Amino acid sequence: AKNLGKNQVALYAKALTEHIINMDTLDKELQEALESDAFVLHYQPQFDLSDLSVVGAEVLVRWQHPTRGLLSPYAFIPRAEESGFIVPLGWWIIEESLKQLALWQETGAFKGTLAINISTLQIEEESFVSAMQALCKHEKIAPSCIELEVTESFVMKNTQESISKLLALKKAGFKLSVDDFGTGYSSLSYLKQLPIDKLKIDRSFVKDTPRSEEDCAIVKAIIALAKNLHLEVLGEGVETPEQSLFLKKEGCHLVQGYLYAKPMPPEQLVALKQNN
Ligand code: C2E
Ligand code: CA
Ligand code: CA
Ligand code: CA
Repeated sequence: AKNLGKNQVALYAKALTEHIINMDTLDKELQEALESDAFVLHYQPQFDLSDLSVVGAEVLVRWQHPTRGLLSPYAFIPRAEESGFIVPLGWWIIEESLKQLALWQETGAFKGTLAINISTLQIEEESFVSAMQALCKHEKIAPSCIELEVTESFVMKNTQESISKLLALKKAGFKLSVDDFGTGYSSLSYLKQLPIDKLKIDRSFVKDTPRSEEDCAIVKAIIALAKNLHLEVLGEGVETPEQSLFLKKEGCHLVQGYLYAKPMPPEQLVALKQNN
């Protein structure tokens, strides 16, 4: 960087300003989207391979943009994480999905668990546990029907705060899973001390199974780790029958992926074959 000429510095400064201007617009748009109810939730079913029944669903947010159509979370979650907007958005997602689950439980249309992605900023809020409990109580939902997907980096922080947060959630009855397991800097020894219920094997490891020897070894190792620590394990991003067979053979019975179902609007989810 020390060799940067004046022109380059000017270019950099210009790009940065443009970036900030763009971000500013995005921030405003996101705020407006929340106020005008422009976010929508899709649900991706999770299956038990032994009978292909739906045992749960992951809540995935989308943005119904006025001019750009239905936007993927990749278009706005990173900025929302950066700006802190993920916290109000996250509360909207939680409230909305709990309302949906309450409705489903009332009608018996869906009896599975709902897996909700929780950003680190949000779980670190001081009142997170009590707010979750209050919302469940308000909707008459048992916390055991809710699985909170936390990031590997939050789990592996292993600070006093993160450990007691996880313990409090566990004590309140919530299920806890580690999302995208294996992509972060797991210090495996911590896992056994933490009140985690499930590991979600990241799609990047599943993708090249059973062809890639290396990826097969990684997936097998994660499954073995989960088994030995008495954790559940779910394979993410299953797209081919070969991947599914491999997972099943290795003892991973929970799957989620396009081979079985894409994320879908709520009315489509309840039309699928449910567990019991
Ligand atoms: P994730 O939590 O790992 O969610 C799984 C992503 O993989 C979803 O992308 C899903 O559509 C996609 N996927 C599922 N099965 C397959 C498959 O077989 N093949 C392929 N190629 N992809 C598959 P999506 O919905 O675009 O979400 C992307 C990410 O955005 C999520 O990754 C999650 O990190 C974040 N996100 C989504 N919804 C929320 C939310 O409500 N709150 C928070 N904090 N983050 C969210
Ligand atoms: Ca997830
Ligand atoms: Ca994931
Ligand atoms: Ca992911």
